[in-house]
Amino acid sequence: MRYLSTRGEGASRRFCDILLEGLAPDGGLYLPERYPRIDAAELQRLRQVHASHGYAALAFEILSLYIDDIPAADLKAICDKTYTAQVFGTPQITPLKPLGEGFWLQALSNGPTLAFKDMAMQLLGHLFEYELARRGAQLNILGATSGDTGSAAEYAMRGKKGIRVFMLSPDGRMSAFQQAQMFSLQDPNIHNIAIEGVFDDCQDIVKAVSNDLEFKRKYRIGTVNSINWARLLAQVVYYFAGYVQATRRNDEHVDFTVPSGNFGNVCAGHVARQMGLPIGQLVVATNENDVLDEFFRTGVYRVRGSADTHETSSPSMDISKASNFERFVFDLLGRDGARVKALFDDALRHGGRFDLSGDPAFKQAHEHYGFVSGKSTHADRLATIRAVHAQQGLTIDPHTADAVKVAREQVRPGVPMIALETALPIKFAVTIEEALGHPPERPPAFEGIEQLPRRVRVLPADAGQVKRLIEQECE
Ligand SMILES: *Cc1c(COP(=O)(O)O)cnc(C)c1O
Repeated sequence: MRYLSTRGEGASRRFCDILLEGLAPDGGLYLPERYPRIDAAELQRLRQVHASHGYAALAFEILSLYIDDIPAADLKAICDKTYTAQVFGTPQITPLKPLGEGFWLQALSNGPTLAFKDMAMQLLGHLFEYELARRGAQLNILGATSGDTGSAAEYAMRGKKGIRVFMLSPDGRMSAFQQAQMFSLQDPNIHNIAIEGVFDDCQDIVKAVSNDLEFKRKYRIGTVNSINWARLLAQVVYYFAGYVQATRRNDEHVDFTVPSGNFGNVCAGHVARQMGLPIGQLVVATNENDVLDEFFRTGVYRVRGSADTHETSSPSMDISKASNFERFVFDLLGRDGARVKALFDDALRHGGRFDLSGDPAFKQAHEHYGFVSGKSTHADRLATIRAVHAQQGLTIDPHTADAVKVAREQVRPGVPMIALETALPIKFAVTIEEALGHPPERPPAFEGIEQLPRRVRVLPADAGQVKRLIEQECE
C-alpha cells in the first residue's frame, strides 16, 4: 500500500515514511491510494477473529491491510503489546454499554489518560519506538496541548527509547486533573513546559520552531498531532469492534455518532465505511464551535477567527478549523488533488472559507457518504448528563454528552446507534458538578494525583526560549 497527498503533488510514499511525518511536502494530508474492501465473507472472518482472539487480533488484521513495510510478526507483536486489558482496563478494550433500546455507548476511554486518544496514541508510541530503533534514529516530539492530546502523547511515549517529548500547555488553563496527569510524570524523556499565555500562543511557538527548518532538521523535531495517518488508522479498528458487538449478522447497518473537533475520529469512521463496513449514517456532533455542522447543513466551510472560537465546557472540541477535514473533501471531490489544492488555496485568500453548496458533490456527502450532523450547547450538555445519570445511573463526560444529545435526534427506527465515548467524566469535574450537584467518581488509580510532586517548567511565550531548552536537553 502506498500513500498520496490530498493535494495531488509529489511521489507516493510507504507507511513507515509517513509515520514520522506531519503534512505532506505540498501542504496536503496523506491518504492510502485506495481503501481495501471488506466483503461479507471477510467481515464474518473478522467477526470471528474478534470473538475468539480479541481486539488486538482484530487490530492486526485491519492494520495489515495498510502496512506492508513492517514484517507481519513484528506488527502482530506491536498490536499485542498495545491493546492489553492491563493498559485499557477491560478484556474487551472497547466494550458497548446500553443506553436504551438499540442505542449504545462505545467505551473508548479506559486507557491510561482516560480519553479515546489513548486508543491511537498508545499504538503510535510502540510504532515510533520500533521504527526509530530500526533506523538507529532519534525523534524530539514538540507539541501544544489544551489537555487530552498532550497527556495521551506523554503516557504513550514515556520511557520509549529514542524519543523525547516537549509538550507546551497554557500555564494554569488546563483542568486541575489534566495538569496533575501530565505534570506528575517523572520520566526523564518527558518535558512539560507551561507557557505564560493561551493555547494559541503554544501553537504559534510550535509553528515558529517547525518553520526554522535548520533547527527542525538538526534537532529532529517531529509531531504527533491528529493529522498523523497512523493515528487515524488505529481509530478505524474500533468502528469494526463496535459493529461486531452491536450486530449478529453482516448485512445489518449500524449508525455511529461521533463528538467532533478536528474531524479525526469521525474520519476514521469514514474510512471504515469506505472499506465496506455496513455503517449507515455517520453523525457528526459538534459543540458551539460548529464549523462542521455548518458544512454538513449548508455546504459552506468557514474557518473561524480567534474571536469567534468559543471556550466551551467540551473544550477538546474548541477548534477554529477541522484539521482532518481535507481528507474527506479529497474523497468527496473524486480524489481530484488539483481541485482540493485550488479549493484550499482559494479559501486562504477568502478568510478560510469555501462554498460547495452549489456543487453536485455536496449532495453526495449525505447521499453517498452517509454524513449528517448536529450541534449541542452548554445547556444541552448539562441536560444530557442529567438525563443519562437519571435513566442509566451512568455519568458521562461533556464531550460524550454532545454525542448522546445529537445521536438521540438522529436515531432511525430499526437501526442500532452507537455513540462514541471520548473521555471519562473525572477529567471535566467542574461541568459534572454543575450538572449533577456532585463530583464524578474517580477511578482508584487516580486517587490523590493532584498531590504528587510536579515536573514542569514555566516559560514566557517566546519560541527562542523553547528552542534553547530543547538544545540543552539534547546535549
Ligand atoms: C480530541 C477529542 C475530541 C475530538 O476528536 P477529533 O478527532 O478532533 O474530532 C472529542 N472529545 C474528546 C474528549 C477529545 O479529547
